[in-house]
Amino acid sequence: MPDIADRLKNVAVSASVAMTQKARDLTARGVDVVGLSTGEPDFPTPEHAIEAAYAAARAGDTRYPPTDGTPALRAAIQRKFLRDNELHYEINQILTAGGAKQIIFNAMMATLNPGDEVVIPTPSWISYADIVKFAGGTPVPVACREENGFKPLPADVDAAITTKTKWLLLNYPSNPTGSVATRDELLALGEVMLRHPQVWVLTDDIYEHLLYDDVTFWTLAQVEPRLRERVLTVNGVSKAYSMTGWRLGFCGGPLPLITAMSNVNTQNSGGVTTLTQAAAVAVLDGPQDLLTARAAIYRERRDYVLARLAEIPGLHCHRPQGAFYLFVNMAALIGKTSAGGRAIHSDTDFVLALIEEQHVVTVQGAAYGMSPYFRLSYATSMERLQTGCDRIAAFCAGCQ
Ligand code: PLP
Repeated sequence: MPDIADRLKNVAVSASVAMTQKARDLTARGVDVVGLSTGEPDFPTPEHAIEAAYAAARAGDTRYPPTDGTPALRAAIQRKFLRDNELHYEINQILTAGGAKQIIFNAMMATLNPGDEVVIPTPSWISYADIVKFAGGTPVPVACREENGFKPLPADVDAAITTKTKWLLLNYPSNPTGSVATRDELLALGEVMLRHPQVWVLTDDIYEHLLYDDVTFWTLAQVEPRLRERVLTVNGVSKAYSMTGWRLGFCGGPLPLITAMSNVNTQNSGGVTTLTQAAAVAVLDGPQDLLTARAAIYRERRDYVLARLAEIPGLHCHRPQGAFYLFVNMAALIGKTSAGGRAIHSDTDFVLALIEEQHVVTVQGAAYGMSPYFRLSYATSMERLQTGCDRIAAFCAGCQ
C-alpha cells in the first residue's frame, strides 16, 4: 500500500472526538448514554441567521466567495472587534476561515519552520499541540497549576521562551478549565512578551461571551496596545451563537501576518461557504441580548453541577467563570477499584470505567495535558446533568 505522510505520525485523533464516538456506539446499541464530552452549545442557531442564509441562497449568493471573506462580513467583524473589544482593525487586517480551528491552523502553517517552538499554557485545548506538530513546530507546554486557577505564572512563561519560540498561545475563557484571565493578569503576561520581540501571541477568544459572575472579558491586544503588531486576535461564531456546524472563524491582526495567512487560505479552502458568511453578518450585527440570556442558563447549570460534585467524596472542582466546562480533580480515586472491578490507575482508567459502568461520557485530563482530572461539559439540559451527576456519584461511591 502507498505510504501516509510522516507529518501525520505524531498527530493524534482528538480524545474528545474518540469519547464522543464511544458514546455514539453505545447509543446505537440502545444504551441510555449521558454525553458530557462534547464542546458545543445545545441551543439552536438563532432564527435570524437561518433566515439570512436562506435569503442569500434565494438571491443567488452561491458562487465562489472572496477567499478572505465577503466585504459585508469583514465589515461586520470590524464592527464586532470595535464594539466588544475596543480594537480597530482595517478591513485588510481581518481574515475569515472555516472555524477558529482553521484560523489557528493557517496561522501556524504561515509562520512555523521546522524546530520552531510554540509555548502553550497547559491544560489546553487538545488541538493546539497537534496543529503545531502538523505545521512542523514543537509544542512547549507550560504547566498551569490548579492552585493558580489553571493560569500560567508570567515567570513560567518567561522561562519557557527560547530563541526558537515563535508563538505564545492564550485561551480565555479556557477549554478545558473555564478559567478567565483578569486585565491585570493579561498585563503581567504582556510585560513578559514585551521583552521577547521575536514572539507572536495568539489569543483564542472563542468563549468570549460565555462569562459568569459579572466577570469582564479582556483580550491582550486591547489591554496592551504596545503588542498590537504581534498579537493575532482569534474568534468565531461557533460557541457564542450556537453555530458550530456553520464553520466560521475570524481574526484580526498585523497586516504581514494576515497576508501570509491569506495565502494559506487560498490553497487550503478557497473561502467560507457563502451562506454561512451571510448568516454570520446577521448574528454579528443582530441583537446581542441572546448572549446574556444563554450565559444565565449556563451559569445555572454550572452552579448545579458544582454543587453536586462538591457532595461526591473523591472529587473536587475549581470554580470556573467562563466557557461550559468543569475540570474535575479525581486524584483521591487513583489506586481504587470500581464497582465493576476496574483498577483506576489514571484519569483515563476513570473515564473509561465511568463510560462502561454508568454510561456517562467525559474526557480524561491527560488529553488536555494535565492529570489526574476529567473534563465535563455542562452544555446540555438540566435533566441530563441531573442524571449524569447521579451516575457519577454512584460510580465514585462504588470505588473502593
Ligand atoms: N478554540 C477552542 C479553545 C475550542 O475549544 C474550540 C472548539 O472546541 C475551537 C477553538 C474551535 O472553534 P471553531 O468551531 O470556530 O473551529
